[in-house]
Amino acid sequence: METPLCIICGSNMSTPFIQITDRFGDESFQIVNCECGFKYLSPRPELNEISSYYEDGNYDPHRTYNKSFFEKVYGWVQKKALKWKFTYISKFVTSGSLLDIGGGSGEFCAYFKSKGWTTVLQDSSEKARKNANSADITAYGLLSDINNEKFNLITMWHSLEHIHNISDLFANIDRLINIDGTLVVAVPNANAPERFFLKENWAPWDAPRHLYHFSFCQIDRLLLKYGWKIQSSKTMVQDTPYNILLSLKSNSPLQLIFGGFILLYSLIKSAVFGVSSSSSFMLICKRI
Ligand SMILES: [Zn+2]
Repeated sequence: METPLCIICGSNMSTPFIQITDRFGDESFQIVNCECGFKYLSPRPELNEISSYYEDGNYDPHRTYNKSFFEKVYGWVQKKALKWKFTYISKFVTSGSLLDIGGGSGEFCAYFKSKGWTTVLQDSSEKARKNANSADITAYGLLSDINNEKFNLITMWHSLEHIHNISDLFANIDRLINIDGTLVVAVPNANAPERFFLKENWAPWDAPRHLYHFSFCQIDRLLLKYGWKIQSSKTMVQDTPYNILLSLKSNSPLQLIFGGFILLYSLIKSAVFGVSSSSSFMLICKRI
């Protein structure tokens, strides 16, 4: 285990915020509040210890089959979301080469490839890379393995919050992106309205896999620190029901009514107050 410094302000001054039990085990982890207000996991498993926490068969991103009704609905939403993401990103960049960091089994890359893009992904999961390869997507285990290539679009769909070495990540992005390239980052919002109802059960805490919990202002600060400015931002509405369903203690009628109330509240709040009050957001970034 290691006790990292705050990735935003560099401070080691923090206070305990909440204890979270791993949803796939019984180990408990602590999220701390930095003096700057940023919430992150500390202490956390070191890079060489973290892979065992991704091995549970129920961990969603590496699943290639769907069984339950919930998973079928989620699969359908994911397909709609791919189209939605493509349409939105196309307002800023229309063709070229894509690198998807933490790209899993390659669904996002495959969609862009079908639209004429050259696509490559990076994912630390060997299983995910094999799935990507079988869909004819080039996949690397480490960003440092990618040489002599430049991309005009780099995306991170809910992957930034999993990455241990953030300065190394941004150094690799700088190395791999064209000078006028577009960076797309999507993360859960630490100020999601439903978090305040769901407390320690809020799914995006996801300890110890989620290392950081950003508000809109905090991710803006992190991006600025590494030379990126947010050009446009968008609420990812499709994540709200998913996060809430995943956070409920059971599928009992009472819990589902509770979930329905939170969903309605969250959707209204993000509609009224915008991206900074959404469940998660997608950011289109350009170099400063
Ligand atoms: Zn801080």
